Amino acid sequence: MHCPHCQAETSPDAYFCITCGASLSNTTEKRFNGPGLTSFILGLTAIVLLVGSVFAMLAFVENDTLDDGGWQTLLTLLLLVLSVGCTLTGLAFGIVSVLLKNRRKGFAVAGLIISVVAVGLAVFLWVLAHAS
Ligand SMILES: [Zn+2]
Repeated sequence: MHCPHCQAETSPDAYFCITCGASLSNTTEKRFNGPGLTSFILGLTAIVLLVGSVFAMLAFVENDTLDDGGWQTLLTLLLLVLSVGCTLTGLAFGIVSVLLKNRRKGFAVAGLIISVVAVGLAVFLWVLAHAS
C-alpha cells in the first residue's frame, strides 16, 4: 500500500505515513458498523420479547386463562411473532454486517451471536412446549 500524499510504501495497518507523516485514516480506518449495531439491538429485542412471551404464557397458564382464546392468547402470540421477526431480521443484518468490508466487526459478531442465541432459544422453547 502507498501513501496517498507522497506515494511512499506504508504498512497496511499504519495510521500515519512514516515518510511524510500524513494521516492514512481515510484508507485504513474501519467505519462504524450500522448493520452490526442494528443486528445487535434486534437480537436483544428478540430475546427480551421471547422471554416476555414465555413469562406471559406461564402466567396465563397458571391462571387458566390461556385457553380462552382471548386477549391473553393474542398477546402471547403477538410477542412470539414479533420475537421471531426480530430474530430473523437481526440474523440477516448480522450476516450482512459481518460480510461488509472495512467495517468494525465488534457489533456485527455480537449481533450475529445474539441472533443465533435467539434462534436457539426459540427452537428450545418450541421443542419444550411440544414435548409437554
Ligand atoms: Zn507519505
